[in-house]
Amino acid sequence: MNGKLIDGRQIGKDIREEIKERVNKLKEKGCTPGLAVIIVGDDSASHTYVKNKQKSSAEVGMKSEIIKLPATVSEEELLKEINALNHDDSIHGILVQLPLPDHIDENRIILAIDRSKDVDGFHPENVGRMMIGQRTFLSCTPYGIIKLLERTNTPIEGQHAVIIGRSNIVGKPMGQLLLQRNATVTYCHSRTKDLKEHTKRADILIVAIGAAKFVDASYVKEGAVVIDVGMNRDENGKLCGDVDFDSVKEVSSAITPVPGGVGPMTITMLLKNTLLSAEETCANQT
Ligand code: NAP
Repeated sequence: MNGKLIDGRQIGKDIREEIKERVNKLKEKGCTPGLAVIIVGDDSASHTYVKNKQKSSAEVGMKSEIIKLPATVSEEELLKEINALNHDDSIHGILVQLPLPDHIDENRIILAIDRSKDVDGFHPENVGRMMIGQRTFLSCTPYGIIKLLERTNTPIEGQHAVIIGRSNIVGKPMGQLLLQRNATVTYCHSRTKDLKEHTKRADILIVAIGAAKFVDASYVKEGAVVIDVGMNRDENGKLCGDVDFDSVKEVSSAITPVPGGVGPMTITMLLKNTLLSAEETCANQT
């Protein structure tokens, strides 16, 4: 078998085109969706992510505001910035780029973001709403993976989905979203015994570990759909996923590449969440 490529770049582009149309409709009504991104310190990877978010929001016609704060900023000053954005009517989405410096309590910061502007879907109330299937902002990476599966007509209902990784931003919400779509879900993590025993039974295998090319063909059932969330550098410094693409593509029925798979979807769903927030706010204003 030779796995069909799941093209996140193209699917992301299609969705962003749809977002752009809806942004234009909002603008005609006098409402421009606005995304604010706060970045603390000068971690170069974080600055690259933020630049990409700014570029992508401009491409769909949204306003974006980048607030750069020094690594020495106090928690109170950061909270003040968030509070101002919470009350700024031109801002519909607020994102604080993680990780934050050690002296800042990440949980306190996330909690301070108005849940109706929490377009990352990290606020505990939004996580809770997601858990019980209520309408809310979904965490962008798992939301993007659901869109990849839907747009490639990958069956989810009744399928056995195995997720390696249980982080709050990827693994855990991923399992919930698949469960809501009637998959049977198994979570694996670093303490899982006989990892392959589980992964070899997956119809859909989602890998979010953070270890370059960890999953090779010996972990994968013939015909499985494999989604690689990982973003790592290989021994030559080249971007690669958690999945050994060349070997796994031979046994899978479909597979996401890195780059060009999950990554472009994460940023796209951030824009989608900002659009949804703006649509709701603007509908309430008219
Ligand atoms: P994380 O918070 O470090 O979580 C990693 C998870 O993998 C943990 O649950 C850990 O288990 C598990 N794990 C680690 N080693 C393992 C092993 N040998 N066997 C089984 N499970 C193992 O990472 P994350 O934030 O979820 O991110 C995962 C990867 O996705 C990273 O490469 C990250 O850069 C990437 N990522 C990409 C995007 C995107 O848009 N493409 C978005 C987010 C993250 P324990 O819980 O037991 O420690």
